[in-house]
Amino acid sequence: PAPIVAVVGRPNVGKSTLVNRIIGRRQAVVEDVPGVTRDRVPYDAQWNGRRFTVVDTGGWEPDARDRAAAIAAQAEIAVQTADVVVFVVDVSVGATDVDEAAVKMLRRSHKPVILVANKADNQNLELEAVSLWSLGLGEPHTISALHGRGSGDLLDDILAAL
Ligand code: GDP
Ligand code: MG
Repeated sequence: PAPIVAVVGRPNVGKSTLVNRIIGRRQAVVEDVPGVTRDRVPYDAQWNGRRFTVVDTGGWEPDARDRAAAIAAQAEIAVQTADVVVFVVDVSVGATDVDEAAVKMLRRSHKPVILVANKADNQNLELEAVSLWSLGLGEPHTISALHGRGSGDLLDDILAAL
């Protein structure tokens, strides 16, 4: 079976946009409204001749209840079943309390985690990413999923971690 890469993070950080960038087609639903992706959606992907499965998930929200809690639980299952986890943060917002809580969960999973600083659309935003070292997940990979900036290097690092 192909190795599994789970893409997780808060709503609206650009997870689905990144998944589309990885699979090279617009198949994951991108929305300005949070909570569009409700469960785990797997897609076949390939990079440098290697096949893998990339799983889009719904976002982790603060004090999740009911529907939001169910979405969060699905994202946690995605983490448990992944070989590598891509944790996406919005660099224009910075690390939030929810991001910090997510990092604790990711630590408990003992999975390899790649930290992505998305929405680094320009050099100024790219520089903002240094603040994300505080999450303790190592070097933030700055990308713009929307414009494609940095996505090739990210894919190289994802495959290296598989
Ligand atoms: P998700 O909820 O984490 O899956 O986020 P989406 O992929 O649905 O994206 C949420 C919003 O952020 C959409 O309006 C995207 O177009 C926008 N977005 C995603 N990636 C980027 C990026 O790299 N730069 C900018 N400026 N916007 C982005
Ligand atoms: Mg989404």
